[in-house]
Amino acid sequence: MKRTLEWQIAVVAAIRPETAEVKTLTLALPNWTPHRPGQHYDVRLTADDGYAAQRSYSIASEPERTGEIDVTVERIADGEVSPFLLDTVVVGDRFEVRGPIGGYFVWDESVGGPLLLVAGGSGVVPLMAMLRHRAAAHVSAPARLLYSARTYEQIIYGPELDMLAGQNGLKVAYTLTRAQPPGWKGYARRIDDAMLAEVTKPLGPNLVAYVCGPTALVEAAADGLERIGLPADRIRTERFGPSGT
Ligand SMILES: Cc1cc2nc3c(=O)[nH]c(=O)nc-3n(C[C@H](O)[C@H](O)[C@H](O)COP(=O)(O)OP(=O)(O)OC[C@H]3O[C@@H](n4cnc5c(N)ncnc54)[C@H](O)[C@@H]3O)c2cc1C
Repeated sequence: MKRTLEWQIAVVAAIRPETAEVKTLTLALPNWTPHRPGQHYDVRLTADDGYAAQRSYSIASEPERTGEIDVTVERIADGEVSPFLLDTVVVGDRFEVRGPIGGYFVWDESVGGPLLLVAGGSGVVPLMAMLRHRAAAHVSAPARLLYSARTYEQIIYGPELDMLAGQNGLKVAYTLTRAQPPGWKGYARRIDDAMLAEVTKPLGPNLVAYVCGPTALVEAAADGLERIGLPADRIRTERFGPSGT
């Protein structure tokens, strides 16, 4: 029987800046249930006059961490909810959440096989839950993260990704599309077929791919993966926003 998701009151237990425009909120949940990496929660904010706004936020943390989840929120400059979560919410605040939600864009150790993750901007958030779970569960099948950001400063989770890269067969490749620091050795262009081919080659033909980010990036990367020979049923996608940025 399908479980009906109840709203519950999350308490903000910690707030950590990730970049200038991105923060991670740790939410303590009275009715925490284990999630599958890739799933999200709905957040509902209700004003004193009863006006409510609801948005989805991917779970960034691994299911091995019990009782709480991390969500990582990027500022959409003219947005209604994300600036509130970044600028107004403080530790101890409470708001409604429900989840975990989603059964398609999920990966855990039971999926197995070589893993390709492709992220654009804050699309790295659900992929981070997969990588944290992969590390916690000691999964050793090879994995690659291809992560597109505009600048080096906009890379989310950079130090942790550097730490995870090289462990259990994970390699991380960055592409910086707008500006690169002096001496940058990574990619410096939008994701294209040649880049996808290079990153996926060591994984062999049996990989499963998860692509998440702005709609334009997701479509370009998923189409590119098909063009380089990956069957469509091995590519799972999640789109975060309406814009092509
Ligand atoms: C399944 C799912 C998971 C998500 N996970 C995350 C996450 O982990 N972290 C995160 O930061 N966001 C995530 N999002 C996006 C999030 O739900 C909100 O859409 C986002 O925070 C913007 O909300 P807002 O109220 O600030 O902006 P709104 O008031 O909804 O929008 C303001 C303006 O910005 C545009 N806009 C809205 N969203 C985006 C976007 N993502 N990119 C560019 N323009 C946009 C709108 O069209 C509008 O013009 C996820 C979305 C989905 C569907």
